[in-house]
Amino acid sequence: MDKTKRPSDPAALARSRVRDILAYHVEQTPSEVILDANESPYPPPPELHERLMVIMAGTALNRYPDMEATLLRRALARKDGVDEHEILPGNGSDEAIQSLIAALCDPGDRVLTPTPTFSMYRIIANWLNVECVETPLGNDWSLDVERVIDDIARARPKIVFIATPNNPTGARYPDEAVKAVIEASPGAVVVDEAYIDYAARPYGLLFRDRPNVLILRTLSKVGFAALRLGYLMGDRRLLAEVNKTRLPYNINSVTQAAAAEAANSWSLVAPSFKAVAAERERMAARLAAIPGVTAFPSQANFILMRIARGAEDMFNTLLREGVRVRWFKGAARLDDCFRVTVGTPLENDRFLAALETAMRGPA
Ligand code: PMP
Repeated sequence: MDKTKRPSDPAALARSRVRDILAYHVEQTPSEVILDANESPYPPPPELHERLMVIMAGTALNRYPDMEATLLRRALARKDGVDEHEILPGNGSDEAIQSLIAALCDPGDRVLTPTPTFSMYRIIANWLNVECVETPLGNDWSLDVERVIDDIARARPKIVFIATPNNPTGARYPDEAVKAVIEASPGAVVVDEAYIDYAARPYGLLFRDRPNVLILRTLSKVGFAALRLGYLMGDRRLLAEVNKTRLPYNINSVTQAAAAEAANSWSLVAPSFKAVAAERERMAARLAAIPGVTAFPSQANFILMRIARGAEDMFNTLLREGVRVRWFKGAARLDDCFRVTVGTPLENDRFLAALETAMRGPA
């Protein structure tokens, strides 16, 4: 007889650290207007769409993808003005973050990030037994550089993650602030530029004279969320190490081919960035006129706003009106905030009208 004591609930087989994690949750209520995931409202223009369909249809399904994703790295490198060996693609930038932490951190090491920010830095660190030190942003969501530098000196993090423009605040940090953090960091610094295409301008290639800096970009926010393609850019020697913790064949063949074509056709994709940024400014002006709504300045394709009336009621009212936004229920400093992605002008008008009506409604 098997005398091995096994728990009756197989969930108890999981590490307690994992059991303590709340699974990443996304609201899935079907809605006509989806403004909760920072996607682009615009699919690629017809000319590019057609080419992508042909390319994807030609994928050899019985063969593994190119292990090194060579053509894709070459296309991304050309788009961003770097060498192909300075690019490391991931199945979404989430996966690149995971490979990076796995490559640089031992269990018990620390990473650091100013918060509120993109939660996956902390979640991935935690499941790898790495502590995530969080330095609070200022009340206007600015980077409190002195505080960050103090925390870096104390915690000696292996990696500092700075998302700029930041999710969910939309704030883009001044070059000098980012550079000061880089100067103070003993380990790697990831400048997460997921939303950079919607900002006034990129930082320039910080890693050229600072080989501990990595830039993280993604195609998810600019019209290709379905492909799952993010990538690290940085010093080739550092990326060669991170490459060792990347799973084999992590970028599937369809994504490799389509994302390379998208990168090679960037001039067809880019006009949507300006259209979205202009819509963001139009939305911001309308939001400023709604009593009880405080919208924060944004350089991304979304706007964070604080709602003076009950956020839960407002959220449900918007859902009933067919508009899904992101509500940070229970999150520190964000419990009364919505993050609303910039959609098409029609979608935005629908959201604005619903919000205006709801904010006027009975208390
Ligand atoms: N970084 C930031 C700042 C983000 O907001 C997101 C998506 N929410 C990601 C990374 C991850 O994007 P993806 O995995 O789709 O590339």
